[in-house]
Amino acid sequence: MDYGKFPREQLLEKIHSLEMLTQELLKEKQQETRLKYAWAGNLGHWYWNIKTNEVTFDPLKVTTLGYEKSEVPEHVTYQFFTDKLHPDDYEPAMDAMRAHLYGQAHVYEVEYRIQAKGGTYKWYYDRGRITQFDEDGSPAFLAGIVFDITEKKERQLELERKNELLFEMSSVDELTKISNRRALIERLKAEMTEASRTSRPLSIAIFDIDDFKRVNDTKGHVYGDGVLVDVAAILKNSIREADFVGRYGGEEFMVVFPNTPLQLATGVSERIRETVKNHRFLDEMRITISGGVIQYSNEDLTEFIHTVDTCLYHAKRCGKNQIVTDLELDG
Ligand code: GH3
Ligand code: MG
Ligand code: MG
Repeated sequence: MDYGKFPREQLLEKIHSLEMLTQELLKEKQQETRLKYAWAGNLGHWYWNIKTNEVTFDPLKVTTLGYEKSEVPEHVTYQFFTDKLHPDDYEPAMDAMRAHLYGQAHVYEVEYRIQAKGGTYKWYYDRGRITQFDEDGSPAFLAGIVFDITEKKERQLELERKNELLFEMSSVDELTKISNRRALIERLKAEMTEASRTSRPLSIAIFDIDDFKRVNDTKGHVYGDGVLVDVAAILKNSIREADFVGRYGGEEFMVVFPNTPLQLATGVSERIRETVKNHRFLDEMRITISGGVIQYSNEDLTEFIHTVDTCLYHAKRCGKNQIVTDLELDG
């Protein structure tokens, strides 16, 4: 039809009737959408005329954000929505749109946070594609569908937070895969109670790598981490089934020897010290460790650990690469 010959009145009438038709089609589309995609959060279709920068959309897309229909401007642009994106999601959303418009991505698909009227954010999942091109091949029209995925996203984030918490509560040291300090202390306390109850001997040893700072300084932290993994493995392989080893701190390890008198625990500790001394770490590097060993005599946990620490301190002061027991302290 050649609209050029139409008088203004008739043109306005035509525009009006087209607008009514658009509304009607959109309504039908909304119903169809709900039938076809009956799952939760569906906010319906949107259409973007790139040339006029006009967006036609299901009103749910803005009423879900707390806006009244009357608050939505007559001419809604692409920016009406992108202006409300969370700052962290703005660039990724733009990248996704650009990638699709420039033909690098088959569809435009993105998850973003969009600000509701009250200031809080909703999570939307948005997916669309170019449906019409110009004569010169440039994109002219896009159509898509959007979902409110706030609940799903919040459940997911909550799960991630819980997982982090679980890991913190877990008993394994991430690097060395032996028990962490929490599990170690728990086990130590249990063994102290058991020793008091049964009057059986209980010993503990603490080991600290000598001059470990220098290892890190000269070889780097990644290398240092590898040394910690190796030392943990040596400890684990040097003790009996009933003994318990854990990473006490940075480069400090503790072994709990249930039902073991001091002399025996000292013997094992000396063997561990020898094994580490003779071990060739990566690049033929050699290191030594110092240790303290004591036997339990019904003191409380703090005092017990303090005493074994004192032994370790003496081993360091006396030249490192040695094991000191509380008997030696007394003597
Ligand atoms: P000393 O012989 O007196 O024990 O000297 P040291 O250098 O071993 O002792 P110091 O306590 O000064 O240094 C301990 C170092 O252990 C410092 C710290 O950066 C390092 N360290 C602690 N945890 C880790 C870890 O997980 N990985 C690595 N690579 N280094 C660690
Ligand atoms: Mg230390
Ligand atoms: Mg050290």
